Amino acid sequence: MTHALAPVEPRLSEPARTWLSRPLQSVSIDGTHRAGRSEDAVPVIDPGTGRTLTSYRSASTEDVAAAVSAARVAADDGRWSGLDPERREAVLFRLADLLHRDLNFVAELESVDTGKPLSDATIDVEEAISVLRYYAGWASKVEGVVIPAPRRLFAVATREPLGVCAAITPWNFPLPILMYKLAPAVALGNTFVAKPSELASLSAIYFSELCSEAGLPDGVVNVVCGAGAVGAALAGSAGIDKLAFTGSTATGRAVMRSAADCSTKVSLELGGKSPHVVFADADLDAAVDGVMAGIWTNAGQVCIAGSRLILEESIKESFLAELYHRTSKLTLGHGLDPASTLGPLISKAQQQKVADALSDAESAGAELHSIGSIPGEGFFAAPTVVTGVQPGRGIDRDEVFGPVLTVQSFDTEAEAIALANNTEYGLASGVWSSNVGVIHRVARKLRAGSVWANTYGIFHPTLPFGGVKDSGFGRELGSEAVQQYTELKTLVIDLNPGSSS
Ligand code: NAD
Repeated sequence: MTHALAPVEPRLSEPARTWLSRPLQSVSIDGTHRAGRSEDAVPVIDPGTGRTLTSYRSASTEDVAAAVSAARVAADDGRWSGLDPERREAVLFRLADLLHRDLNFVAELESVDTGKPLSDATIDVEEAISVLRYYAGWASKVEGVVIPAPRRLFAVATREPLGVCAAITPWNFPLPILMYKLAPAVALGNTFVAKPSELASLSAIYFSELCSEAGLPDGVVNVVCGAGAVGAALAGSAGIDKLAFTGSTATGRAVMRSAADCSTKVSLELGGKSPHVVFADADLDAAVDGVMAGIWTNAGQVCIAGSRLILEESIKESFLAELYHRTSKLTLGHGLDPASTLGPLISKAQQQKVADALSDAESAGAELHSIGSIPGEGFFAAPTVVTGVQPGRGIDRDEVFGPVLTVQSFDTEAEAIALANNTEYGLASGVWSSNVGVIHRVARKLRAGSVWANTYGIFHPTLPFGGVKDSGFGRELGSEAVQQYTELKTLVIDLNPGSSS
């Protein structure tokens, strides 16, 4: 079997081309970087051309077991959790500095792996660095509490690492989503096993090399690349204390079932069908830009995509006219072409899924407004606005994960809220109004983990993020992750042992 094909992508820089022409070290276990031991080859496909750049050998189930076991040994012998917190902090700051040193290179890998414009990929890597730095700082700042127990006792509760944490992640924001999990887990003294998506594994492979260069002890960060079977083997592994999953609702449920058999704690970040509500009194110029960013970013392949636009009836026509006009100025193209402002979908299968959803909607009586033309090669889809949908059904209910925006309208605040909440999902939402009373009232009633008002899709290491309903549970980012990746230990000392007072 050929493990590495000659890269064919002419747009790649020399360093990226050289790195990709070597056999990819798709597993990193106990500080050793090597090819996976499965016979299955995983192709690395450039979504902007549809061509295969290279391929790697998937991790085998034995590789997964070895990664979990290496993480277990490293957790139990205290080589990482036993270090002074300032030392862990220093290693993680060094790791963030290395990622910053290689920012352009990693962004290029991410761009060619996912198809997203290089400028967007650069923002992703910057975000990953800032999340890593934020949690590096937490390593030395987690404190315990003294508990007001009966006076003859001295009682404290301290936060301890859980042990072995693992992550299964998707392809749409590969490095940031991995970092939301890995950075707090490792900063707080846990060891880690990562399983990135088979559709975008390059940044995780390179990151594992940086972990060694930064001086993380062997076995602290382990990576196993491959498809769903590798994820399933990880989810079903005994010896993991916490598993953090981001991906589709269906896979998340399967992961939770496997984890239940191993008594593994789970957090799930799942799909979404987020409403974006615009009132007539909003700053409409800013709202059009916000709605566009909410749905066209990453070609709509965003869990928080504001994919259901809910407009006050009186502005519907003018708002949509402006939206079409500005959308027509976007340039679809290869991620490494500096002129591109919108990239392709991740795969041919995703392209087909989007096309099927649109054709089903049309058959159900909706009107499709496709804007702009798509390049001849690659997995592109034109931004499409869908009007005349049936609320809460078909394309207005199912996550499309593509550049597809459904439109509905309302006359009253109550109608807007009812339309917004008419979904099984509850990840995110947006509301635009110049009336702060409207914003507060609507935000209180929206069933979603995040509400953005007069903006959309703001992420920051300090802001907790996660869903309700079918969008999952548990929160990532912010101080909330400190609770998620540590366990309280209560210590009680009897100050007068043997005495009755
Ligand atoms: P997916 O569920 O197909 O795959 C996610 C990960 O799970 C991948 O690493 C995949 O290899 C792995 N996997 C697949 N089958 C598995 C199994 N049986 N057991 C264990 N692991 C398995 O999702 P995707 O297509 O990679 O990503 C798109 C989905 O992710 C969308 O639904 C999107 O909304 C969701 N998503 C959610 C968030 C969030 O934060 N809520 C963020 C990004 C993406």
